[in-house]
Amino acid sequence: MDIKQSTISIRNGLNSDEQHGCVVPPITLSTTYNFLEFNKPRPYDYSRRKNPTRDLTQTLLSNLEYGKHTIITSSGMSAIYLVCIAFLQKDDVLIAPYDCYGGTYRLLDALHKKGICKVLFTDQRDIKKLLELFEIYHPKLIFLETPSNPMLRIVDINTICSVKNDTLCAVDNTFMTPVLQNPLLLGADIVIHSCSKYLNGHSDVIAGAVITKDIYIANQLNWWGNTLGVTGSAFDSYQLLRGMRTLIPRVHQQQKNAAKIVDFCQKQDHIKTLYYPGLSNHSESHIINKQQSGFGSIFSFELKGNKNKLLKFLKALKLFTLAESFGGVESLIAHPATMTHAAMPDNIQKKAGINNMLLRISVGLEDSDDLIADLKKSFSLI
Ligand SMILES: *Cc1c(COP(=O)(O)O)cnc(C)c1O
Repeated sequence: MDIKQSTISIRNGLNSDEQHGCVVPPITLSTTYNFLEFNKPRPYDYSRRKNPTRDLTQTLLSNLEYGKHTIITSSGMSAIYLVCIAFLQKDDVLIAPYDCYGGTYRLLDALHKKGICKVLFTDQRDIKKLLELFEIYHPKLIFLETPSNPMLRIVDINTICSVKNDTLCAVDNTFMTPVLQNPLLLGADIVIHSCSKYLNGHSDVIAGAVITKDIYIANQLNWWGNTLGVTGSAFDSYQLLRGMRTLIPRVHQQQKNAAKIVDFCQKQDHIKTLYYPGLSNHSESHIINKQQSGFGSIFSFELKGNKNKLLKFLKALKLFTLAESFGGVESLIAHPATMTHAAMPDNIQKKAGINNMLLRISVGLEDSDDLIADLKKSFSLI
């Protein structure tokens, strides 16, 4: 039976408790588990390696991403670090997007400078250039992030996977969630998530995940996850499982709200340029239609004018909180140059198209009319 994602998220792990018949699976906080007898461990021995609550959450993510194995980690950053450490040797080349998430840029740049691996940042929309890099460097790993943050540029996962040969392909799918894009179905070997965003959805857990179909990759990740101790805690896994029960309706409703707000913003005189995958003039719309089943609920725009206007606008907003992160039920606004992408040097920011008038909005679950009224009033005050 082909069970739909909504059903999987709601039913995962229900009624699995045999002791009391709990409908909602109880949280297992114990760090350690008694042995059945001498030299006879149970499936669980120590919670850093394996924990029943984390296992339930991992099963759900594997199912949602059409994978077989998931490792929940302490954060999105430790998920990316885990993949790098598990598969890269000194002198191995990693290809990464020039406009990736600021924290990812900081990590990969630091790994490069420390001599852990060699990292090449490039515009992955240029397939010809990518082919050249494959030919010259025989990279061990290519890391994709699509749509990119905060410019919403798109790269073609399937095309890149079809020319990569034995290079491992890892896709950061945080922006789209398994609801709107499934990289494993497009040829990727590994999917990475920051679960701190849409997956948990309530801005109260920091966690990450790595998902794969391949048992060899999974074994490497599990071994390194346990060895480094970056596996996620039982409590965070429990919260995450709870959050993911409503992932599908949240993603759809937030997307609906975003579409209405983007529509309003398109008619705004104060906006110089708008960035959203759902715009009909998006330069990669043919790829978007091929690999995404929706446009998501994040958009960015460049405000006309100067810093003074930007400050006035931010101050006037009441329903968009000035904060980092995205994907929660509450609407947020961020200034990438000084916030999410502050870890990126100025010249790299410029190259990625991030300037001081750029703002990024994560649309939440408030009423879209209220959100639009708040924007309208704030635009009128600048
Ligand atoms: C937030 C984010 C990360 C890092 O995740 P944390 O859970 O904050 O460590 C990585 N990639 C993307 C695309 C993100 O948005």
